[in-house]
Amino acid sequence: MTQKVLVVDDARVVRISLGRILKKLGFEIIEAENGKEAYEAMNAHPDIALVMLDWNMPVMNGYEFLVAMREQERFSENPRVIMVTTETGMPSMLKALAAGADEYIMKPFDESLVCDKLDIVGIAYNRE
Ligand SMILES: [Mg+2]
Repeated sequence: MTQKVLVVDDARVVRISLGRILKKLGFEIIEAENGKEAYEAMNAHPDIALVMLDWNMPVMNGYEFLVAMREQERFSENPRVIMVTTETGMPSMLKALAAGADEYIMKPFDESLVCDKLDIVGIAYNRE
């Protein structure tokens, strides 16, 4: 079964590069440009296994989306959430983890870093 990943970032170039990596790893990609779109995507595709989530976005930021999504009973554990952000401060990281994020990736990222984080959060992917 192909697992779905929701890639949430207001920067198109980030969505493309993350999407390219994740597609190669065998995932189906769904994109959102902000937290509001991401929230709508989760309700349209409740089987999404993983969210790769930017922090700074217009309309609704990644943190606000995370809190709103985890408030829904069916999303309290899944999907897994990996923050992908330039918010490098430890307080921000702790705040996101406390709100239900599972891991944290600092930009810039590469395929091996993404794979390491998928291993940590327990999401299976195609290995070559
Ligand atoms: Mg951003």
